[in-house]
Amino acid sequence: MPAMRAIDARPNGPHTITMAKYDTTELIREALDAGFSQAGELNLEALVFMPEVRDMCRADRCNQYGRNWRCPPACGSIEDAAERAAKYSYGLLVQTIGTMEDDFDYQAMLDTGEQHKRNFVDLIGALKTRYDDILPMGAGTCSICTACAYPDAPCRFPEKSYSSMEAYGLWVSRVCEISGIPYNNGKRTITYTSCYLLK
Ligand code: SF4
Repeated sequence: MPAMRAIDARPNGPHTITMAKYDTTELIREALDAGFSQAGELNLEALVFMPEVRDMCRADRCNQYGRNWRCPPACGSIEDAAERAAKYSYGLLVQTIGTMEDDFDYQAMLDTGEQHKRNFVDLIGALKTRYDDILPMGAGTCSICTACAYPDAPCRFPEKSYSSMEAYGLWVSRVCEISGIPYNNGKRTITYTSCYLLK
């Protein structure tokens, strides 16, 4: 766990009280209908943007650093990410949980990841029919195109593309913990987590 050196972007400071503007029960139901395994309200106290998480992106373990418009460095600075997120007053966390036959069941990991991506994009579409301005953050980089246009041409779908929670500098397990939602869901399971911020 990296030492905390974080940018606090909670709207109106650390003691904001979120008004009951959104029906969490209804949003959870909608997320489950979209195919997610579980969902819950994201505690805005968890929106702490950590340069250390960005540093992990730079280590390029996912082979996307510097290869996608929605990954660092092209997606902007950690300060930009915090400023963007600060406009939103409500968050929904969503998870897709897969079962693995053993600890090396890569097929189950891949299949669950693909299912999560489909669920994630479907719910973006559904939420956008009701809310003009949402901020989706995925479990991996934008993969709308087979090959990202970066850096040779502009993003092909700037209105649809999305960054990962990690690209925003969010420490996903901590976001889950603070929000009271398990990050791990048991032995021989794999969990993918994403979120949506609403104004
Ligand atoms: S929509 Fe296409 S071009 Fe834009 S970030 Fe996603 S993959 Fe890259």
